[in-house]
Amino acid sequence: MKLNNPNADIFVPDGLETAAALARTTHMCISAHQDDIEIMAYHGVAECFGRSGRWFTGVVVTNGAGSPRAGLYGHYTDEEMQKIRLLEQRKAAYVGEYACQIQLGYTSGAVKDPTRADLTAELTAILRAAKPEVVYLHNLADKHDTHVGVALRAIAALRAIAGEHRPRKVYGCEVWRDLDWLPDEDKQALPVSAQSNIAASLVGVFDSQVTGGKRYDLATAGRRLANATYFASHATDVETALSFAMDLTPLIDDPALPVRDYVTGFIGKLKADVEDRLAKLA
Ligand SMILES: [Zn+2]
Repeated sequence: MKLNNPNADIFVPDGLETAAALARTTHMCISAHQDDIEIMAYHGVAECFGRSGRWFTGVVVTNGAGSPRAGLYGHYTDEEMQKIRLLEQRKAAYVGEYACQIQLGYTSGAVKDPTRADLTAELTAILRAAKPEVVYLHNLADKHDTHVGVALRAIAALRAIAGEHRPRKVYGCEVWRDLDWLPDEDKQALPVSAQSNIAASLVGVFDSQVTGGKRYDLATAGRRLANATYFASHATDVETALSFAMDLTPLIDDPALPVRDYVTGFIGKLKADVEDRLAKLA
């Protein structure tokens, strides 16, 4: 597979040839940055880890430039930092036994530019080669522009190939905004208790981020525990870790469904829920 950017990277942990590595994919995450996959889509990694017939592929869209740096990495140039982040993503792919890890090397600016058709076309080609059954994207209420930009390009790519291949499920996942606010009936509650040692390692290998002072490793585990504990007030916890997701499948099944209307529909339900309770109790 020929990728657009000269700094793009394909890594297949078990050394299989790229086309075959991609073709075995069953679960795929398309994220903005190195480490987003491990924070938001551990459900997909765990579904495939050590299982025959299931394979997880990660696609990271940006090049890791402009990431914060401190301590050991404080004096690194943007170029050196990109190399570190690329290597860290490869480490995660190895630990998680991914089918394939692709890093596309786009700038954040390119991702946020809706007129750039090259990224959508490249994602379309990757999806066509991998034909994933389950896809994990950023959720559309995330507060990071680059995350939402990547999710929108991925939705456009999924819509472009919907006539040939349609995943069974498309999830919008939590990074820079959790999804506890979604009405319970709309929450996609993904169990992520399995192999907590692997889950911890996957976020832990991104040392340049964690050393930078942001304890994503602890925060990610904490969010999953909090999700499991606060999900149902009267039930005993069956899962000790949950990730929440927004169901994005309807946007692929109905390409005419406006993205903005779909997402704000959930916000409208939250507003109605708060208003109804206050009206009842005030
Ligand atoms: Zn990110």
